[in-house]
This record gives sequence, C-alpha cells and structure tokens, in this order.
Amino acid sequence: MTNSLLILPGDGIGPEVMAEVRKIIDWFEDKRGIAFEVSEDLVGGCAYDKHGTPLHDDTMAKAQEVDAVLLGAVGGPKYDNLDFSVKPERGLLRLRKEMDLFANLRPAQCFDALADFSSLKKDVVAGLDIMIVRELTSGVYFGEPRGIIEEGNERVGINTQRYTESEIERVCRAAFDLAMKRGKKLCSMEKANVMESGVLWREVATRVGQDYPEVELSHMYADAGAMQLTRWPKQFDVIVTDNLFGDLLSDLAAMLTGSLGMLPSASLGAPMANGRPKALYEPVHGSAPDIAGQGKANPSACILSFAMALRYSFDKGEEATRLEKAVEAVLAKGLRTADLLNVEGATPVSTSEMGDAVIEALNESL
Ligand code: NAD
Repeated sequence: MTNSLLILPGDGIGPEVMAEVRKIIDWFEDKRGIAFEVSEDLVGGCAYDKHGTPLHDDTMAKAQEVDAVLLGAVGGPKYDNLDFSVKPERGLLRLRKEMDLFANLRPAQCFDALADFSSLKKDVVAGLDIMIVRELTSGVYFGEPRGIIEEGNERVGINTQRYTESEIERVCRAAFDLAMKRGKKLCSMEKANVMESGVLWREVATRVGQDYPEVELSHMYADAGAMQLTRWPKQFDVIVTDNLFGDLLSDLAAMLTGSLGMLPSASLGAPMANGRPKALYEPVHGSAPDIAGQGKANPSACILSFAMALRYSFDKGEEATRLEKAVEAVLAKGLRTADLLNVEGATPVSTSEMGDAVIEALNESL
C-alpha cells in the first residue's frame, strides 16, 4: 500500500519545524525502506497571500485524497485585521470540518528528562503516557438553539449540549480502537449525574465496550476526572470525553508535561476505502511569531505529530516508537531548544540542530 502524505507547513515557525520533519521522512525512506508519496501545499496566511483564501479548493481536494495531512501552524500579526472569513485559522477549520474529523487525539506524555518542567511533583508525572480522545465536531459548541436572546428586561445566553447516539458511538469506537493499540484501559468521562446527554453517553460507551471485551472500561464524572488527572494521572491510559470536557481536560493533561513545543496532536475521521482513517496531524502550538525566523523553535511537537501519523495512519507502530525514543534520547543528552533551556547543564541547540540530533539518535537506534 502506498503512504500518501500532504504537508502543509503554514506560517511563522510552521515551515521551520516542518523542514526538520522532512529530514526525518527522508531518513525513514532511506534507512527503513518506507516509501512515502509526499506533496506540499499552502495553508493559512501564506495561502491567503497567494490565492486570496486561507485554503484553496485544490488543496482541500488533495487533503481528502491522501492517507494523512501534516500541518505546521497558521496565523500571524500580519493577518490579524483580515475579515473573519479569510483569516488563516479558517483554513484549518475548513480542513477539520470538511474532512469530518470527529476524534481529536491529544497525548500527554512526559519524557523523564523533562519531568522537572511540570508544575506537579516529579514522581507524579515522570513516565506519564496517557491519551485523551475528545469528540470534536458536535456537542455544546455546535448544538441548536444557541444565541443571546431578550427575555423580559434582560438578555439570556444560550448554548445546547446535543449528542446523537451515532456521534457518541463513533468517537467511543475510535477510543476503544486506540486502547487496543495501547494499554487496553479506557475511562469514559461525562456528567451523567446532572446531564441527560451524559446518561446517553455512558449507555452508548458501555454498549460499544461489549465489542471490546479485552478493554477494561471505567466511567468517571468529568469534574472528578479533572481532580484525578492532577492527583495521580498515571492511573489513566486512554480517556474519551465530549467536546467541551475534552477541550478543558486535554489542555489540563497537556500542561502536566511541560512545554508547548513538545505537544503533538491528531484528528481522525471515518475510515476511507483503504481502511485508513481520514487524518490530520499537527503540533498543538501556533505559529509563534515572536520567535519565527530565528531558528529558536522546538521541532519536537511536529516531529512527534509525524510519529503519530506513522502509528495511526501508516500502521508503523514500531517505527513510531523508534522516533519517540529518538526524541527522548536527544532530551536525555541535555540538548535543549530555547523553550526548554532553564535547566542547569543543558546544551542550547537551534531548530535544525535539534532535528539533526534526532536523526543521529535514529541512526543509533539501528
Ligand atoms: P503560539 O503557540 O504560537 O505561541 C505561544 C508561546 O509559545 C510563544 O511565546 C511561542 O514563542 C511559544 N512557542 C510555541 N510553539 C513553540 C515551539 N515549537 N518552540 C518554542 N516555543 C514555542 O500561540 P499564540 O502566540 O497565542 O499565537 C500565535 C499565532 O498562532 C496566532 O496568529 C494564533 O492565531 C495562531 N495559532 C495557530 C494555531 C494553529 O495553527 N493550530 C494554534 C494556536 C495559535
């Protein structure tokens, strides 16, 4: 099977971090014999500069055809005053919407070398490796009715939490599939104690679980989940939750582990004809205009996003682990981009030196 990949570096530090991923893709082709069909295109501000739109229709069509899309970052001060409809972020939103990416995967993984960066005690986070699956296309951010209405002599703000059984089922299935590839433990979080949508969520999650007898399923109220995530996060493997709770819990979990420059993500949709899910991989960070063009960006988040693509789109779990371990090895050697520098004895490196060090660690892994 071919492995087609559309690369969208975007704006700001996007092209800088993506250049390091290109080196890594070349390495996997040369040294591991994995053939990729790579194409590259524009998204965000750079697409607006060329086409007057943050995502050209041709780029959108390409994204629908490939096995995986890898995006750098979009946005920047130059585009702040553009009309909302052509802002760089609209390009990203269009990709997510038209590819119908309903499952957002946010790992929270703490490499030992960075355990001191967490605001929590080292033994609470060292070795942490959990995955939050957030429903991304429904729930209270989309439900109708919504708006601000007049009622008597005051205004009322309204949003509606709404989930169909099939929406709950498909994201739970994605989470169970993930749990099967990981530690076979899934915790579903909602507020079934006070929300009917939570009652339905729990019922559907339990029903889907019957198809996955090997996965240990538990349920937790989302507020208790937030407490447990800060008290002892290592009790979790995969967590599945709705759009709103997932928004909060995935940010909370991500920050257990330190820097924005280390955080990858994936958004998955329905399986395509070849059985692979529609997929968009991207670092959690933005275009970081404050450091763009200075060789200061940490490429790890983008590199780790590519590792997720290896695992979830290209079915190369072992190679994904090899890449993650290479990043870990580089950190263990004390090499640090500027965002991770405030540790005694660390060796400062630029974006490209960090990428080269990962390649060296990959060579050492052979
Ligand atoms: P940001 O993530 O770009 O930057 C926040 C801070 O983290 C900055 O100080 C930055 O220097 C630092 N940082 C981020 N990534 C880093 C990396 N890889 N290495 C080292 N340091 C890093 O968020 P922001 O400043 O709020 O937004 C800047 C622009 O990015 C805005 O236009 C915003 O709309 C856009 N944005 C895009 C995305 C995306 O493309 N997915 C996400 C968030 C923000």
